[in-house]
Amino acid sequence: MDDCQLCVAEQITAWLHEDDDCWVAECLVCRTPMIVWRFHGLPETELETELLTRLERIASDRYGPNGYWIDPERRRIPEHWHAHARPAGGFFDPASDLYGSF
Ligand SMILES: [Zn+2]
Ligand SMILES: [Zn+2]
Repeated sequence: MDDCQLCVAEQITAWLHEDDDCWVAECLVCRTPMIVWRFHGLPETELETELLTRLERIASDRYGPNGYWIDPERRRIPEHWHAHARPAGGFFDPASDLYGSF
């Protein structure tokens, strides 16, 4: 889909990981690691769990093993699977302009 921001996958922010199934980049808004499935739609539960494991590894490197939470809610683009890893007790990364506003 050409009009889907996640399908276009522009490398606006730093990419932290990429493989055949997904890519992980800093979310432009939140600045937290965000995993995006390479396909437009929603993966099977089993694959979703596996993809989240990849995000957890990156989140754990960044925020520490207990320093993050996985936010599976797709607010802006509900029809294309993605998930955020957010710092424990927070919503935005300290690098975000919106840090502290939640
Ligand atoms: Zn975000
Ligand atoms: Zn898409």
